[in-house]
Amino acid sequence: MLIDTHCHLDFDRFDDDRDAVLRRAEEADVRRIIVPAIELENCQDVLDLASKYSGVYAAVGVHPNSTSAWETSWLNEVQRFANHPKVVAIGEIGIDYYWDDSPKEIQHQSFSAQLNLAADLDLPVIIHNREAGEDVIRLLAKSRLAGGERPGVLHSFSADWHIAEAALEMGFYIGITGPVTFKKADDLRDTVAKLPLNRILVETDAPFLAPQPRRGKRNEPSYVTFVAEQIALLHDLSIEEISEITTTNARRLFGQLQLDRVNPDGVGAYD
Ligand SMILES: [Zn+2]
Repeated sequence: MLIDTHCHLDFDRFDDDRDAVLRRAEEADVRRIIVPAIELENCQDVLDLASKYSGVYAAVGVHPNSTSAWETSWLNEVQRFANHPKVVAIGEIGIDYYWDDSPKEIQHQSFSAQLNLAADLDLPVIIHNREAGEDVIRLLAKSRLAGGERPGVLHSFSADWHIAEAALEMGFYIGITGPVTFKKADDLRDTVAKLPLNRILVETDAPFLAPQPRRGKRNEPSYVTFVAEQIALLHDLSIEEISEITTTNARRLFGQLQLDRVNPDGVGAYD
């Protein structure tokens, strides 16, 4: 079985066929999905999905591109949402210099504040980094998460090897998405081939970043199999082996995800 550790299942692009998407996930043996929030406005949507579907888990937090009006009181809101029993992380949070939707200082402030909150709540973080690797590493190193047992994941990793290396040294995991399958992604494949197996997670970031065979289409959790296949190739392992390894990694980072309850008596993962 596989776990899609990052999917925006609450986005309206899934409104027409969410149950069918989850049925296809289950058919592909993708039995757990973690859905991160991107702003205060969708935290409740994410929690509603986690309440509705047994195999869906949630992360709550404010994405860097949603921080332009950041106020410290938002932290209390995130903390309140984090009380939900199926919240397994604070996220997605981070820094994004590509879109430049929010001033640098505010991005740094909101990121650090949410890193602190995660440490207070003993939750890992899901980190978004776009063209901000050096500053992400600098702020992570200053946080109480660095060096901890389960600090978090650099999601949809696309940075250089030295950023991966610095994150790994602090105990972080590296999340791999569809671009690892793209024709021109040799640099990313070189990085993934060097990652220690016990720190790799698979994810879709759906509806974005569909892997090569589906490139340009809407992504969905069942397609995480293409990501796993590519990583298996790079590490000279079978798809079964990479599935077991990445699932074990996800459970170590995010908690047990109630995998003992998968198919107890023929009940589906998303019933
Ligand atoms: Zn995302």
